[in-house]
Amino acid sequence: MAEDYLLHLQKAAEAALASLRRHRVLPTTVAYAVWLAHHAGQNPALSRAIASLEARGAVFDEALHFELAERYLGFGAATERAQALTVKAERVLSRLSQHIGDFRADAASFGASLNDAAGAIAAVVSPAELVELVRELRRTTDAMRERAYELERQLAERDAELLSLRTDLARVVEAVNTDPVTGIANRRLFERTLEQLVAAAAENEKPLSLLMIDIDHFKKFNDAHGHPVGDRVLRLVAGKLAERTPAPCLAARYGGEEFGVLLPGIDTSKALEIAETIRNEMATHEIVLKTEGKRLGAITLSIGVATLRPGETAETFVARADEALYRAKRNGRNRVEVEEGFAPLPV
Ligand code: GH3
Ligand code: MG
Ligand code: MG
Repeated sequence: MAEDYLLHLQKAAEAALASLRRHRVLPTTVAYAVWLAHHAGQNPALSRAIASLEARGAVFDEALHFELAERYLGFGAATERAQALTVKAERVLSRLSQHIGDFRADAASFGASLNDAAGAIAAVVSPAELVELVRELRRTTDAMRERAYELERQLAERDAELLSLRTDLARVVEAVNTDPVTGIANRRLFERTLEQLVAAAAENEKPLSLLMIDIDHFKKFNDAHGHPVGDRVLRLVAGKLAERTPAPCLAARYGGEEFGVLLPGIDTSKALEIAETIRNEMATHEIVLKTEGKRLGAITLSIGVATLRPGETAETFVARADEALYRAKRNGRNRVEVEEGFAPLPV
């Protein structure tokens, strides 16, 4: 059943590539997704629209593909469905590519096996017949070899198309999950990862901690030095977070001048230590505008720390870290505060 479905998708994927060629369209993700959905027969409304456009001799350019993808596939800027389809297409493509690889190996060995056959047959016929037989075999072999070459050429062409499509898909996934200003994860990836880690924590019984971080008096900093300098500071903070919380931790820009850091496998005490290191390093790092040699002083961070409680939802988990963050603000900023009820073990 699953195998049938995969075969169906593979056929749809091949038909989609054929359609892209027929309409002389570059195999972009959006164009490919439109034709894949059409040939997979998943979207009758889309197929009707394509049929009527084809009947009218419409030009299938990039704009038209975007329009179709938006209207019939629900492709907004970065919707769930776009990503789901991307992942599915990626799976189909790697199967298809494998299939092409096998096929190509067969084609290459074809010429060689014909030559072997010619040798074997030659040994059992008379000299007079041999001349004619060899001629005949040579003609057949040459023709077959020609066909094998042609097939191989076509397959290599298609493989190149698939490769560019795959790169395109990877770029889309990357863009969907990345904050353009700082280059670290965006809130979307943060929330997805948070949900996954909360679900996993219920199973593996390992701690999961969270830092919510907000830059202090950032509005004043922006007002004094301008937005572009503010953006550079956002990148500086993002870089510091990424450096101090390497994978499997995830540092993300949560919004504005606020960041969230997920710390799987890390308990409250260790999370506090990490938060304190980050706070201290930022507070003691003087920001200097290299181009003008201007010294802007340090910027400080307020940080709230929480650790997931058994049975807790992602939402209340974030709310508790946020509550600690606001306590850090109220208590004077440039501080780390931990969730209510945390009592460190006596040393
Ligand atoms: P607090 O210590 O209470 O957090 O004060 P604050 O000034 O940091 O907080 P507030 O919420 O009043 O202002 C946040 C400021 O962050 C407003 C805006 O100028 C700045 N900001 C938000 N997003 C960006 C951004 O993408 N780039 C830049 N340069 N600044 C941003
Ligand atoms: Mg702030
Ligand atoms: Mg803020």
